[in-house]
Amino acid sequence: MLDRLQNRDCPVCGAPEGRARPFLSASLDPARIGALSFASRKAPEYMSFRLVRCQTCETVFAAEAPEAEALAAAYREAGYDSAEEARYAACTYARALARHLGPAQGRGAALEIGAGTGIFLDELLALGFSEVVGIEPSHEAVAAAPAPLRPHLRVGVFEPGLCRPGSQSLVCCFQTLEHVPDPRGLTREAYALLRPGGLIAFVTHDYRAPVNRLLGRRSPIVDIEHMQLFCRASLHRLLGEAGFEEIRIGTIRNRYPLRYWLRLLPLPGPLKPAALAAAEALGLGRRSVGLNVGNLLGVARKPG
Ligand SMILES: [Zn+2]
Repeated sequence: MLDRLQNRDCPVCGAPEGRARPFLSASLDPARIGALSFASRKAPEYMSFRLVRCQTCETVFAAEAPEAEALAAAYREAGYDSAEEARYAACTYARALARHLGPAQGRGAALEIGAGTGIFLDELLALGFSEVVGIEPSHEAVAAAPAPLRPHLRVGVFEPGLCRPGSQSLVCCFQTLEHVPDPRGLTREAYALLRPGGLIAFVTHDYRAPVNRLLGRRSPIVDIEHMQLFCRASLHRLLGEAGFEEIRIGTIRNRYPLRYWLRLLPLPGPLKPAALAAAEALGLGRRSVGLNVGNLLGVARKPG
């Protein structure tokens, strides 16, 4: 898939790549590109395509990337991991999203793009949505979905015609927008599927967040799977250009068990196992802790 890379213009505003500034040079090792390279929440590999930053809308994007079909094939075959972490992430997103929803009555249909094992669909049902559907390209993720959620999942990539135009009250896409070849096309199609007054919700990394600026190339956002990276300005632009109004973009605090945060910590040598053992001995390993790790929640409304 690295043999046939396509040149890309800015995937948010369409400005030509030639007018973008360098952001990060390419770092690719074909020998290390395995099935897990295209899975969520894997261990960081620090590989990336050549990244540039658009001077018009501030989106960071891969200037050369695999064709859409090659990407779709990679995600079809992708492994997935860490059901427990997905559960915590879903809980974080549900709490953050709930603040933007109206009264529980008549919430209608909701669609999730990049649904993984369907964990968030469970949260959508709990929030009162009557009809929920998740689209997910990885067969393995869908096969691992809890039995009650499997009927709500469709295997594939998000494409026009998935639902009736104007039929959805909510479209969400969490930690997936970085992975798709055409985020502008996805946002416009989501707009078409929403009913007037319906909401769109995106969760993305924020490349401008202090933690990501501090870590630089060692940040988990630097990844071969990321075709683009957002900040507040570029996410706002993406939603505004598709026609959305009442655009609200804020940071979210991710809640995970302490043992998950400790595993991510760049501690030297025996310190990490020692810290993990101490946390478990004190009964704190399962205690959930909220941290701002540089994620954005963008919520916007289709005009009524
Ligand atoms: Zn741009």
